[in-house]
Amino acid sequence: MLAEQVKQAGVVGAGGAGFPTHVKISARVDTVIANGAECEPLLASDKVLMYRHAADVMEGLRMLKQATGARRAVFATKRPYKRVLDLARREGAGIEIFELEDFYPAGDEQILVKEVTGRVVPETGIPLDVGVVVQNVGTLKAIKDATRGRPFTHRYVTITGAVQRPGVYYLPVGTPVWWAVGLAGVRFEDYMVINGGPMMGRVVTDPQEGVTKTTSGLICLPRDNELARRYTRDTSHWLKIALSACTQCSRCTELCPRHLLGHAIFPHKAMRTVAGGEVTPMETVMAAFLCSQCGVCELYACPMDLSPRQVFAVLRQELVQQGVRFPKTGQKPVVRDTYDWSKVPKHRIMERLDIEQYDRALDFVRHKGMPPMLNIALKQHVGAPAKPVVGRGMRVRAGDVIGEIPADALGARIHAPVDGLVSFVDDRKVVMEV
Ligand code: SF4
Ligand code: SF4
Repeated sequence: MLAEQVKQAGVVGAGGAGFPTHVKISARVDTVIANGAECEPLLASDKVLMYRHAADVMEGLRMLKQATGARRAVFATKRPYKRVLDLARREGAGIEIFELEDFYPAGDEQILVKEVTGRVVPETGIPLDVGVVVQNVGTLKAIKDATRGRPFTHRYVTITGAVQRPGVYYLPVGTPVWWAVGLAGVRFEDYMVINGGPMMGRVVTDPQEGVTKTTSGLICLPRDNELARRYTRDTSHWLKIALSACTQCSRCTELCPRHLLGHAIFPHKAMRTVAGGEVTPMETVMAAFLCSQCGVCELYACPMDLSPRQVFAVLRQELVQQGVRFPKTGQKPVVRDTYDWSKVPKHRIMERLDIEQYDRALDFVRHKGMPPMLNIALKQHVGAPAKPVVGRGMRVRAGDVIGEIPADALGARIHAPVDGLVSFVDDRKVVMEV
């Protein structure tokens, strides 16, 4: 019943790749975890969502507990998030509260499961494999909204960096990035805009790109900032310097969160592979499937400014093209002894990336007006893109379905966030004049 309501409302995981939530909550598990860890530095979207909707988030978690048959429901957030913790305790009848240390990537699902339950997700596995469902706090709020018949059409987005009015804005899905950063007082063309957090985000190249159900932040950086500089390098640059500069110090491996969980990933060995000159064991290459692309190796660990992350991305792409899949070993990973003292404090990452000056106490910013158009992607989630069910020239009302899940496919519905006129449709997007 809940799964059907959630499916109708088009709810997807708001904190990651956007896995369709109706599928995840149809599972039977013993533990459900609310992820309120706000994994990336500088972002405050989840924190602000808790400030404004703590009761809905906790109610969404109780519903999830019931739907999955779980015995344990846990709300997890960082220890310094005092206000969030107070709200969670106030609204959290029947829910355990778990305080995480302020390290990166505490909000990574696999790390979170280890911290809260002590269990380790197997290589290439998901929390479900160890009897756990993790949902982001924004997803839990959307689950509660779904039971009220409200579709998932808006989200909280942190807009920060070198902007005049940093804060967390509540935006309709499809809001063009140029308009969103304009709310915070900057022109798109004057900055490098990163969609997501500093560690795992990507550079926005098209100012018309629309905010999606998974857009957690837009970070505007001057182009000479250290982080912006790193984002401008292309893959060939990384591969070229990997050949010449890697000292094989193995710091990237020592600090790799997946290595620390006991998975068979050794980034320094992958660097040796790229440098060539030796026969590479297959498991070194296959570790590309175990890399979460968290960025610790590239943006924090490596003293030589190299990127095992990029090397794994290239290796993975090649393996996928060759039709290679990771073999399920069935082995239970054993957490390495160094796990606890190798956690990377968030403030150290900010120092390293020259973004400490943007680490401010952000709150909700109320804004007036609407963008002139919405650019709504039909693929905002894991699975098949939604199939458009509107045509050019059609008037739609807020909440109308504009994209439907294709038959027998994994996917999520998409709804019109506001009233408007459909001005363009293809198999990738619906554009609405507002
Ligand atoms: S940390 Fe850098 S230099 Fe050291 S092994 Fe890894 S990639 Fe090579
Ligand atoms: S990005 Fe680097 S640190 Fe992160 S999982 Fe991959 S290899 Fe490990």
